[in-house]
Amino acid sequence: MTPIRQCVVCRGRHPKTELLRIAESDGSGGISLMPAGQYRPGRSRYLCRPCLERARTRGLSCGNSRLTPGAVEEIVGGLETNASGEAECEPGARPSDAEGHALSLLGLALRANRVRMGRDETLKTIRAGKAALVVLASDAGKDLRGAVETTLRDATGLESIPGPSKQEIGRALGRRSVGVLAVTDTGFARSIRDRFFAGGASEIGGTS
Ligand SMILES: [Zn+2]
Repeated sequence: MTPIRQCVVCRGRHPKTELLRIAESDGSGGISLMPAGQYRPGRSRYLCRPCLERARTRGLSCGNSRLTPGAVEEIVGGLETNASGEAECEPGARPSDAEGHALSLLGLALRANRVRMGRDETLKTIRAGKAALVVLASDAGKDLRGAVETTLRDATGLESIPGPSKQEIGRALGRRSVGVLAVTDTGFARSIRDRFFAGGASEIGGTS
């Protein structure tokens, strides 16, 4: 039997599988949304779909955190791919969905000023010890890949994860093409990494 949970906005009670989970990003004041049932440490709060629809024009406040309508719109874009097939959101059921979520989160992280893009910025961020996650495009050039890997080797315990193509990452970040990027917030980094791995990429340096 599906557990019932309350929507944080309208207080309506719904089966958990129909709700979205709200997670606060560590320290950044940002929040993210994901299908309920997807594990994430911290307090569980839920949002119903009608309230999500309203949040598209009004934005969403939760605790001390807030999402702008634009940020909600980006998340909804990622989730709609999911909702179009089955009503139930099975995390990781379809690779492209999880990847879409990851890209939406990257967009959010960028708005929160937690993303450094491109070769120079990324390498600088890694060397400064400020990178929590490095995403390398699947079609990144050999030189870029080599430079990133060399720099990462000198940085303790940090590895890159394979992302989608340069164009796909670029689209999510409002650029033509992004070959490599660093996420500087650990909360965003964890969520984004989880999504990409939920999408079937091979795990590196397992931190589950
Ligand atoms: Zn609601």
